[in-house]
Amino acid sequence: MRDAQGWNLKFKRPLNDWEVNRMVEFLNILERYKEPSNREDKLLWAPDTQGRFSVGTAYRNSQRTHTQSSYWPWKMIWKVKVPFKVACFTWLLAKQVVLTQDNRMKKGLDLCSRCFFCECETETINHLFLHCKETVKLWQIFINKRGISWSMPGNIKEALACWNRDGNQSGHRERWKIVPACIWWTIWLERNQRCFENKSCSMEKMKLKCLALFYFWCKHEYPHEDEDITSMLESLRSS
Ligand SMILES: [Zn+2]
Repeated sequence: MRDAQGWNLKFKRPLNDWEVNRMVEFLNILERYKEPSNREDKLLWAPDTQGRFSVGTAYRNSQRTHTQSSYWPWKMIWKVKVPFKVACFTWLLAKQVVLTQDNRMKKGLDLCSRCFFCECETETINHLFLHCKETVKLWQIFINKRGISWSMPGNIKEALACWNRDGNQSGHRERWKIVPACIWWTIWLERNQRCFENKSCSMEKMKLKCLALFYFWCKHEYPHEDEDITSMLESLRSS
């Protein structure tokens, strides 16, 4: 509501430190609307100058949005030979909507967010799955095997795009593309065990679980080839 002093906003919970700047931006936007019209509210379709919805304006708007947004790594999500539920999980990660603690806080839950692995950083998707000093050890198994230098990108979408690009030189491109899903699924299962069952595995055991996933998903792709995990990892090396 707006009164003589300005906009009077009420929130369900106090703001967190990192939300203050966004709130200032929001108030600046609201300040542009000092004199609300007395006319009755109605829905307007923003992409159309008359405010009327049509399939044509919706299509043109979606095309414009599509070209403005950067590359969406759909092949690294849906064309990778992993179980469907794991592909869905990768998709949720790329959309940044998996229920890590920071995302749960955005939904109004009052939590003390802390990474279950390093126990010092806030648990966000990008931290937990890409940058945590503990979970990054799973990435190192495969990166060291390939013998490439790898600088971790800022978010899941970029990580998938870079991993896909690096796979061009891999001896076995299809197997290389399975790796992010193996790592992320291993991290998520372990994270949930620590969060909900108060149980934890050592990093060495997590590495073994991750390699086991890699082995079984590769095996599922080529069931008749008699190959052990060592030669599967060797096949990732640059050709
Ligand atoms: Zn961490």
